[in-house]
Amino acid sequence: MKIDTLCVQAGYDPKTGDARIPPICQSTTYVYEKTQDMADLFDLKSDGYFYSRLANPTVAAFEGKVAALEGGACAIGCSSGMSATALAVFTVAGAGDNILSSAAVYGGTYNLFSTTLPKLGIECRFFDPDAPAKEIEKLIDGRTKMVFCETIANPSIVVLDFDKIAKICAEHRVLFAVDNTLATPALCRPKQFGANIIVHSSSKYLDGHAAALGGIIVDAGNFDFAASGRYPAFTTPDESYHGLVYAEQPVPFGTKCRAQMIRDFGAIMSPQNAFLSYIGCDTLALRMKKHSENAKRIAAYLEAHPKIDWVKHPSLKDNPYHGLAEKYLPDGQGGMLSFGIAGNVQKCAEFMEGLKLITQETHVADVRSCVLHPASTTHRQLSEEDLKAAGVPHNLIRLSVGIEDADDIIDDIEQALKRV
Ligand SMILES: *Cc1c(COP(=O)(O)O)cnc(C)c1O
Repeated sequence: MKIDTLCVQAGYDPKTGDARIPPICQSTTYVYEKTQDMADLFDLKSDGYFYSRLANPTVAAFEGKVAALEGGACAIGCSSGMSATALAVFTVAGAGDNILSSAAVYGGTYNLFSTTLPKLGIECRFFDPDAPAKEIEKLIDGRTKMVFCETIANPSIVVLDFDKIAKICAEHRVLFAVDNTLATPALCRPKQFGANIIVHSSSKYLDGHAAALGGIIVDAGNFDFAASGRYPAFTTPDESYHGLVYAEQPVPFGTKCRAQMIRDFGAIMSPQNAFLSYIGCDTLALRMKKHSENAKRIAAYLEAHPKIDWVKHPSLKDNPYHGLAEKYLPDGQGGMLSFGIAGNVQKCAEFMEGLKLITQETHVADVRSCVLHPASTTHRQLSEEDLKAAGVPHNLIRLSVGIEDADDIIDDIEQALKRV
């Protein structure tokens, strides 16, 4: 079925007399009459619930919906986008291993990869996403377990060259993981372009209403662990799971992630947040169309404005990622854009404080338009030179375009620019 249908129908299949939408199953535990029934669950011989740290029916509905939207074999709901990324890495990498990551990733992900992973003995080798394949490939060695990228990078708005990375990963038989948060499956399904693992911060567009923190990991089910030779943890028995060999399971990555990582780290999504995120996804396809249309119009308006130095949105013809966006994001390029106000930090503050409809927030990607000035908030400790190196000019304003009427958003920007 098509994406609009999956958004409203996938993930939950009520039987006669059941609630039409997934009930919030607010229970830590589940009852069984026969000892063997529970033993079979522990042995992964049958499906069912025994403890909500491992699986929960409401979380399962959301997992089923996102798995269907991404065309994956299974999905695992996590407590946040950060825990989803961390657990995806831990599923395949341990001390002595390394991963590759695009340098253009979300700030939290950058911190996790550059600071916290090394403390656990996992090295992250960053690469410039615009570098030629040969340069990126050089970073791969026998202990490389994953290559990580974002479909649309937050906040640099770099669009991923899927073919380039997929080819490298296929040649080296290494997992290709994609953070699809800012594109969502409504605009791009990374599996179609060779990705093996897809992660999301569902706190953004999937929930869509800034109501529930969450993350999700999708196993596309298209990676041959036995053939790769890179993943002994998948081809040798897991003694902590009665000698289970993950590569022999129907969904090796997803099984190991839940049976080992969710079991040991416990960063599962809460039923309440899963419920909100599930309901949010009902309108995902509709919302992403509107976010994209609005952002496209606002980007064109800003580009023509004399008080604006530059605008970044992949819908703009002169944007360096316009070609990649036409190839991978033909149905819309999402609601995230950034622009530079002519002048200094003071002008940015004047502009932002002059806004009436658009609010100042660190959050992005929900129904309401919001702005952030990184140089005076998230990046305020950096010097002017450091800001340049981080690709965050002092006059950069990040705008997350909501689903209000585009005319009203433009009017608000217009009146605020008049004050500058
Ligand atoms: C917000 C975000 C994250 C982190 O997600 P949380 O739910 O805040 O933990 C990861 N990746 C991207 C692209 C994000 O925008």
